[in-house]
Amino acid sequence: MDSSNFILPVDTEVFLKLMNLCLSQSHFAFNGEFYLQVAGLSMGSPLSPVLSNIFMEIFEIKFLPNILNFDHVWLRYVDDIFVVLPDQVEPATILSKLNDCVPQIKFTLELEQNSFLPFLDVLLIRKIFISDNREEFAFKVFRKDTHIDSYVHWLSCHESHVKFGILRGFFLRAFRLCSPEYLDEEIAHIRKIFKTLGYPSQFIEKALKSTKRRLRNVKKQVRQDLVSSGISNFTIHDTPIDDNSNEIETVNENIERDCEAENRLRFDIADKFIVNVPTDTTNIKKFLPREFVLVSSVPTNIKKFFHRQKISIKKDEHNAGVYQVPCKDCDSVYIGETVDFKRRKYQHKYSLQVGDENSALHRHRISNNHRIGLEEMKLLIKEDNVNKRQFIESFLIKNVNNFNVHNNNVLLDDFTNHIVKKFSKFSSFLKGLNNFI
Ligand SMILES: [Zn+2]
Repeated sequence: MDSSNFILPVDTEVFLKLMNLCLSQSHFAFNGEFYLQVAGLSMGSPLSPVLSNIFMEIFEIKFLPNILNFDHVWLRYVDDIFVVLPDQVEPATILSKLNDCVPQIKFTLELEQNSFLPFLDVLLIRKIFISDNREEFAFKVFRKDTHIDSYVHWLSCHESHVKFGILRGFFLRAFRLCSPEYLDEEIAHIRKIFKTLGYPSQFIEKALKSTKRRLRNVKKQVRQDLVSSGISNFTIHDTPIDDNSNEIETVNENIERDCEAENRLRFDIADKFIVNVPTDTTNIKKFLPREFVLVSSVPTNIKKFFHRQKISIKKDEHNAGVYQVPCKDCDSVYIGETVDFKRRKYQHKYSLQVGDENSALHRHRISNNHRIGLEEMKLLIKEDNVNKRQFIESFLIKNVNNFNVHNNNVLLDDFTNHIVKKFSKFSSFLKGLNNFI
């Protein structure tokens, strides 16, 4: 490559080093393993399309003269190639010659089917007129079988000029690609897609008119350029635009006004729609149908509906935790957890007074003829979190000599208990209790 033709922002040598770095260091991870790509260009790299184009140009210069004849057609867009061969030339032969050129480069072949051949987003149709032994190509927009017409919905938060631009893009493609006999079909299809996406028909028609106007202007400009450069004998391939030239509006004129008018129309919807708007644009509301609920995505607007109530508990009232009730006549204790120590103490006292059969304290008292030391009931640990309290309660029931009724408690299994006891925090806690097992 002759570097004198290019103005590079850095020295050629540095530039090549950087290129080499970018191209040789493309790692990727797959299934937890790292890989280094050793051949070819990495997908998604901005360098890849440029370099593949350069590669293909070199390929064409170097190999094509030996493979194709002057009456063969070879048209390429990056890595998609459209080829026309004379009847006597076998496409498979050309393919195998192409595949022999560079080992890493493998071409595939797609032949025309019933006179149809897709290329990029165009479907080519070969038309044969038997009467006058004539052949010509026709074109229409090609959509794959798996294609679903999923584009920006009318209710999307995009600005209307964006939606207008999308529509114009589709119409422009229709005019540019379609042969006259397929144009109406394509325009009808575009209308149908965008109708389904909720676009008002007035908006769609506006975009169509705007597209036609643009094409007319382009054609006019081409005509003028040709005449002014002294060419008088020319024909321009005529895109069938019905010339309704009374419209002298400029391209973007009145779009906004039409959008607002259309927005007021009632949509055929069963339920309420929630429209999330990026800013607090309350003036949008008057343009929305009744069924629409406007929700602002600015968090401060919703925040004001919620007041944080500060519920503070005074230190001396803090009485949630795990407690023990000792027996006056043996080593065992009763372990329990509560959110309110005072209240729980009162409940235990009551159970003992009435002789509640469900109370573990009462049962221990009756079956052993022991005295319960309720006045020595004390909090072993303060804990507000109920899950932590229940865990500590289970841990203590498992590890201290107790007379709890176990059937209602979820006890730790031996393994977990063993692990938990390894933590110094828990082991020293246990050692602080005089009746641990
Ligand atoms: Zn006892």
